[in-house]
Formats: sequence, structure tokens, C-alpha cells
Amino acid sequence: MKTAIGIDIGGTKIAIGVVQEDGKVLATNEFPTRVEYGPDYATDLIVSCVEEFMQQFPTVTGIGIGAPGPLDSKQGKVLNPPNLKSWHGYPLARRIGSAFRVPVKMLNDADAATFGEYFFTFRDTYKHVLYVTVSTGVGGGIIINSSLYEGALSGAGEIGHSVVQREGPVCGCGKQGCLEALASGTALNRIWKERMAAVGKPVDPNWNSKDLFAHFDKNDPIAQSVVEEASTHLALGLSQVIQALNPELLILGGGVIIGQPSFYEMVYEKLPSYLLDQHSQLLTIEKARHGTLAGVMGAAAIILSKDEDIGGKQ
Ligand code: BGC
Ligand code: ZN
Repeated sequence: MKTAIGIDIGGTKIAIGVVQEDGKVLATNEFPTRVEYGPDYATDLIVSCVEEFMQQFPTVTGIGIGAPGPLDSKQGKVLNPPNLKSWHGYPLARRIGSAFRVPVKMLNDADAATFGEYFFTFRDTYKHVLYVTVSTGVGGGIIINSSLYEGALSGAGEIGHSVVQREGPVCGCGKQGCLEALASGTALNRIWKERMAAVGKPVDPNWNSKDLFAHFDKNDPIAQSVVEEASTHLALGLSQVIQALNPELLILGGGVIIGQPSFYEMVYEKLPSYLLDQHSQLLTIEKARHGTLAGVMGAAAIILSKDEDIGGKQ
């Protein structure tokens, strides 16, 4: 059976997998992105991991890459992603493509996850889908009439940079009050620590969003209010896109949503009150079926699919 390699580049970690046409994941590997070391460091690790997989699995027909936006999928180039600052302008697809003889395609990481969920699970049931990932950043992908919609410059679905609070916290993109600055894993962790410090509670600088949710689960009132507010911001941001697109299916994914059922439940409960009945009655909400592997599977799926138009070929 045909297989492809999927690479999911995130602001915190990089995951790579070998994926079969039927959605079976044959092997995976992951390592930290270490943004401070720059793109060549990570790319060298990616290339050696892919080399090993290619030797192990001779059925591999190509390599798909999902990377945080803004990016230019046709040129295979990273533009200026807020969570990969040292990678600005990096010709990622060419760098990886020059090491191998198989086709290499690249697209936005959230678009990859969207396509993975659609291709392997939902394509026979839905035609209009919105996918939103909450991880280091907040991203989104859109399926219209059964096709992935990338927009004019690979930027469709950049929901993380919708402003949901006027004069809110500064986002990595430079604007204020973006959804990503209020509801991503990074934002949740930052807001929680700021609030703890403000009332004189001890703060461990190594805490991350998993520690926040551990406190949340122990009914810590500060952790609870941070998650509660973030879920409202997320529901608000989502409602705007849903009103604009009228999808039948909303898929919520990314480590922060997948790892924390109560955060997902809060968003699920709040969202309908921000929507017209026409939109909410038709809408099914699901968690990403492939969990945090959705990105890897989707990056591989753009190679396995017959849709030539997705992403850029190198
Ligand atoms: C980027 C998106 C990306 C998301 C998740 C955001 O900062 O703008 O393109 O999908 O992070 O990585
Ligand atoms: Zn932003």
C-alpha cells in the first residue's frame, strides 16, 4: 500500500510520521523545535529522521510538510510566523526537497491537520468544515465544497490573529488582543503566571500550560478563571468564522484542546449562544479524531491524495 511521510512543524515540537493510504500510522518520531537554534538545526534533524524512515519504508512516495503561517505554500517558503521567529523567510520545502528524490509539498500546519481529519475521517459525511487548533499558537483550516481553501497567499483560516479584545495583550504578530494572545497554550500559561504573581503566589518559571490545567483540575480559582475567560474568547473568535462560512462541522484540535477535556467542554457549551440558530442548529462539533497526530497525517495526506492543487510542489 502507498505511504507518505508527514512532517508537522510546531513552535514547540516537530513530529514526523510514516502514514499509509488507509490512515494507518506505521512509525513516528518527535523532537523539540528549539526555535533559538534557528531553522538549519531543526531541518538537519528532520532530514536525518526522514532518511531513516525512507530506508525502513521503501513504499514512501513523497513528503508533506505542515508549518506555522504566515507562509507561502506555492513557493514552499516560511514567511514570518509569530511562533518561529528565527525561521523568517526560510525556504523550508526546498531545503528538505534537495535531500531526497521524491516529491515534497508544503502547506500551513493547521491546513494540514484540517486536511488530515477530512481525508481520513470526514470526507464522506461533510462538505463544509472548519478546523481550529489550539496549541503553542491558534490556527485554522477551511474546507469549502469538499476542497481545502488556502486563500490568496496560504493565509485562509488564520483565526488566531482575529482581534477579540480591544487593547488586549500584545500578540507575537505585533497586534493587540489577538485570539492567540488570549487563548493559546502559551497565552494561558503567561496569563496564569501573571495573575499568580500579582497576588503574591509563588510562581515556578518552568510551569507550562499542563501545570495550569493540573491546578485547574484541583479547583484552583485563579487557574479556573484563566481557563474560563480563554474559553469565552475562543468561542467568540470561532463564532465570527462560523457566521462567515456556515460550516456543517467544526473540529477542535491541538494539544491544549485534546489534552484538556474541560476546556473543550466549556467552548462547546458557550459557542451556540454566539451563533444565529441557522448556524448552530446545523453545526456538529467534534474533537480531532487523530488527536495531536492530525498534522502529521494531514501533511502525508496531501501526498497521498489525488488533489494536485493543495500546497506547493517543489
Ligand atoms: C499561525 C498559524 C498556525 C498557528 C498554529 C499561528 O500563530 O499564524 O498559521 O496555524 O499558529 O501553529
Ligand atoms: Zn496575532
